[in-house]
Amino acid sequence: MLNLKSSIPDFVHLFFPHVCIGCGTDILDDQHQLCLRCLSDLPVTNFFSQPNNPVEKKFYGRMPVKNGGAGYFFTKDSLLETLIYELKYKGNKDIGIYLGQILAKFLTASSRFDEVDVLVPLPLNPKREKKRGYNQASAICTGISSAWKKPVIDKAVIRKVYTETQTQRGRVTRWENMEGVFAISDSSAIKNKHILLVDDVITTGASLEACGSEILKVAGTTLSIATLAATV
Ligand SMILES: [Zn+2]
Repeated sequence: MLNLKSSIPDFVHLFFPHVCIGCGTDILDDQHQLCLRCLSDLPVTNFFSQPNNPVEKKFYGRMPVKNGGAGYFFTKDSLLETLIYELKYKGNKDIGIYLGQILAKFLTASSRFDEVDVLVPLPLNPKREKKRGYNQASAICTGISSAWKKPVIDKAVIRKVYTETQTQRGRVTRWENMEGVFAISDSSAIKNKHILLVDDVITTGASLEACGSEILKVAGTTLSIATLAATV
């Protein structure tokens, strides 16, 4: 006799196959987005355990960052680019949560981030967040927090102005465009805390700097930075 109960997952799998985004294999757990092979092929930076790494150097002379790092090197036409594209433009929020859990492993493997009190996702343009349905940095924070018991505070900082990404312009212009974009909406939530500011990819660091500078205006705050990937 057909055991209906045990055949339901197979049935669901048939019509909604859960496959690795990298290679398409269906040999992976439901909670995972990548098979072990594709995951291990991603270019790990080891920045989290390295003082004076390239992410920290982006902020030298610009803003005091206690510790910083990125999980992976970001390159064009790579699996990582596909993952971030899926996260930002294809509504696949689960990828952010999944990659956040991996980021938590990197963060906990290095004692440099032990003193972090709270996670703050870099706020997204409100219009863009509405269109996307979520902030990808918040999804990453949810993943980090599920594996590393640090609370997420996503209402302390807001993004005020809608600015288009201007990748063709220089660093100075980008920084100027970012000025006044972020504002503190609840200073009591981050006062006297060590904040880990989180985003998906760091390139020039202009938006992280603009947001971090506002955070550092709140009394007693310390700032660290973590991103999924970095262009170096
Ligand atoms: Zn794979």
